Amino acid sequence: MNTLKNYIDGVWTESVSKQTIDVLNPANQEVLATVPFGNDTAQDMQNAIEKAHQAYLEWKDVPTMRRVQPLFKLKTLLEDHREEIAKLITNECGKTYAESLGELQRAIENVEVACGTYVMAQSEFSENIANGIDEFMIRQPLGVCGCITPFNFPGMIPFWFLPYAIATGNAFVIKPSEKVPMTMQYVFELIDEKLDLPKGLLSLVHGGKDAVDAMLQHPKVKAISFVGSTNVAKYIYSEGTKYGKRVQAQGGAKNPVVIMPDADVEMTTQIIIDSVYGCAGQRCLAASVIIPTGDNKRQFTEALVEAAKSRNVGYGLESGVEMGPVITPESKQRIEGLIQKGQDEGGNLLLDGRNAKISGYEKGNFVAPTILEGVPLQGEIINTEIFGPVMSLVNFDELDQTIDFINQGRYGNMACIFTRDGLAARKFRSEVMAGNVGVNIGVAAPVAQFPFSGWKESFFGDLHGQGRHAIEFFTQTKVVIERWPKNWSRKF
Ligand code: NAD
Repeated sequence: MNTLKNYIDGVWTESVSKQTIDVLNPANQEVLATVPFGNDTAQDMQNAIEKAHQAYLEWKDVPTMRRVQPLFKLKTLLEDHREEIAKLITNECGKTYAESLGELQRAIENVEVACGTYVMAQSEFSENIANGIDEFMIRQPLGVCGCITPFNFPGMIPFWFLPYAIATGNAFVIKPSEKVPMTMQYVFELIDEKLDLPKGLLSLVHGGKDAVDAMLQHPKVKAISFVGSTNVAKYIYSEGTKYGKRVQAQGGAKNPVVIMPDADVEMTTQIIIDSVYGCAGQRCLAASVIIPTGDNKRQFTEALVEAAKSRNVGYGLESGVEMGPVITPESKQRIEGLIQKGQDEGGNLLLDGRNAKISGYEKGNFVAPTILEGVPLQGEIINTEIFGPVMSLVNFDELDQTIDFINQGRYGNMACIFTRDGLAARKFRSEVMAGNVGVNIGVAAPVAQFPFSGWKESFFGDLHGQGRHAIEFFTQTKVVIERWPKNWSRKF
């Protein structure tokens, strides 16, 4: 069995750890590889950070124009190998091939945006702020920057950070999710073969909590970018800042979508179904609580149930499949338990996706589209992140009540409204407490030049991933004030 190696100091290196765990295809439990795990991965992380620091000392003085050149090549590499990468994503993560290609596209767009770092990181200069005195601000890199990513977008999320970190002069160490380590392994193989970067500038270390803790505690790591569940995000934020690091930690979500009575039934239904069931609901921007507001509730509910029923579930590399499995058997069990809880709390199951069996993939972690209505507002399924293909329907008569309900929630990753009424849309976007807002949009995912925002317990920190926020996150500002008295002047 292929045991994955770490990429440290520009060399593929066996882990110090003898402990491994299996990487499984969630559609059939096939073992795809084994990945280093356990206490000793801390040693791997420490080694990678020491080497990364050496690379940083060299890289920080390279002009930005030259630092972005490898990114142009990286973009082409990702484009030229998009099919292989997308297949890997589908096999280890479960999503459909089309979804894998989609996430890769956003990765490529982030590399493109980071190619403009020399513009985005440009300085500000004020001449003659007082007699003979000029003041300017420059941006300098931080040092070694660490990154910890979740299982659900193994090809995209690393690129919210990686290209910006190195373009601004930092070294970068990534620890991907142990559930889906193969995508980054392959991307790093391409980087190793084709990009001319200083050894140690980009490092890949496998593992779980032990490797993360070593990153959190290492004094040479100056910043950490994390994406994952809220409890771990909180831990990373508090530990990282305790050790004096700059931290951006994106957490979980529970995304509400409001349907106003004047919304277009066909368009709204299709978009919401794609949002709830895309990636089997394992998206931090998946719609989860659907809120038909005012009249027309019955019409929307019936349309949503009909559309959800026809979703084709299966192995993501087979043609015609619209929804793959969830990541692990434990995840399937947890989701099915939450559906039961919803029913126990008084919910009416309009569509029950439990015990889904897919011919030829009987061992897969499949949960089919599920819809519950009538669960009390305090119910667990209304308030807990399910991270599976489950829609909960909640009704209100007025938009004000709906916004109040949304704003009382724990998370603030995304909120959307479907309407033809500009005033309702304007009120919603202004008052709703969420970092990403959609108007007639089902997955309000910011393109690469905008920050991937998140409010409340969906984000801990100040600056987000992507675009200018990433440039600011990966640099520290230095303000220089210079006096050049006129009476020192000489004839030139
Ligand atoms: P997770 O929190 O279990 O794991 C994320 C990363 O943290 C992994 O690399 C894992 O190895 C590491 N980790 C896990 N437990 C740890 C611990 N106790 N200490 C230190 N490190 C630990 O998340 P997941 O299940 O891989 O991903 C799903 C979650 O990520 C969902 O909650 C989803 O909403 C969230 N997510 C958020 C965004 C966003 O932009 N806000 C994007 C994608 C996913």
